[in-house]
Amino acid sequence: MINKIGDIHFKNIKRISPSQFYSMKNCAYKSLLAEAFDKKPLLPVSPNAYFGTVLHKMLELITKGVVQNEDDFNVEFDNQVQILENDLQNNGFGFFVPLKNQLQNFGLKKIQIKKHLRNEPTQQNSSQNVNYFSEKWFESKDKLIGGKIDLVIENGNDVEIVDFKTGAITQDCLDDEGDIYLDVKAEYKEQLLLYAYLYFENTSQFPTRLSLVDLAKQKFSVEFSQEECKAVFDEAKNLLKTTNDRVTTKTFSANPKEENCKYCLYRPACSFFQQKLETDFSFNDVLGEIKDVKKFQNGNVSVFLQNGNNSLTIKNFASERFDELNNRRNKTISIYNLRKEAIDFVYSTTKITMIYECP
Ligand code: SF4
Repeated sequence: MINKIGDIHFKNIKRISPSQFYSMKNCAYKSLLAEAFDKKPLLPVSPNAYFGTVLHKMLELITKGVVQNEDDFNVEFDNQVQILENDLQNNGFGFFVPLKNQLQNFGLKKIQIKKHLRNEPTQQNSSQNVNYFSEKWFESKDKLIGGKIDLVIENGNDVEIVDFKTGAITQDCLDDEGDIYLDVKAEYKEQLLLYAYLYFENTSQFPTRLSLVDLAKQKFSVEFSQEECKAVFDEAKNLLKTTNDRVTTKTFSANPKEENCKYCLYRPACSFFQQKLETDFSFNDVLGEIKDVKKFQNGNVSVFLQNGNNSLTIKNFASERFDELNNRRNKTISIYNLRKEAIDFVYSTTKITMIYECP
């Protein structure tokens, strides 16, 4: 099926969540598109990203004490995978099912999550006057910033905020001398600073520790000061305001660069990205006018697009797609999630390739 984007009805974003802040800071237009499409992505994500939601849910259930032993775990894990697979089927992504055949590390991640069962301190425990709150909602007084904190551990005056991550927490950074060192990703740091300030707004007390925990149960501490928390909180509010002002004035801008756009699920609706595709061939997405469509003896279909002075070949479409493509000769389309071949300007389709007709 060839998809089409109709008129986009932009609307104000009511609230910014700490987990969304960094992405919004890098390209606020992405957040506006997400809001306009009611947060329904226009492209599928990788099977790993879908599986991440199951892993996070399992961590949540373990932390809440709903899943307490291995038997509970096995039942609930299968249940969560089943729910996700049904969702994928219903959304037309049945090619990802069964998930365990799509993911190399399915079993390993299941074992890693299971190990969290034995870690008493991350489970609910009311001994020694320690209070554990999992998945607790915190929002600012004006409700403009809000989100669920994975785990808050209150032990007298010691308060720890913990956020679980199912992917890598650190990344390579360069120091002043040009040497590489590992540091917690900036987006996670800022997320935690916002949680810290939300906690303060609600309790008049700052947490004493901010931590990130990965699947392998490694804990990373994030250093912070109260001033930093306040600064990032003000920055988030200001960003929300300036972003919503754009809706009022209808003066949109975006930040189309690889690190922002590569994983943006609203690329088909982004005119700034489409413009970039006219001259930039570094993405696994292409745009061009259909010049020819050929069906080969093995049934495979190739499409030939003209983009400026460049001719692009996209191979391996299924034979059923011939008519819809052939009927659109001389129309401009954009195609997403392709694989680049060794030869320049030649691409082939993948399971998650999608086609959109350009206006
Ligand atoms: S495609 Fe890129 S520029 Fe467009 S909204 Fe997404 S991140 Fe921003």
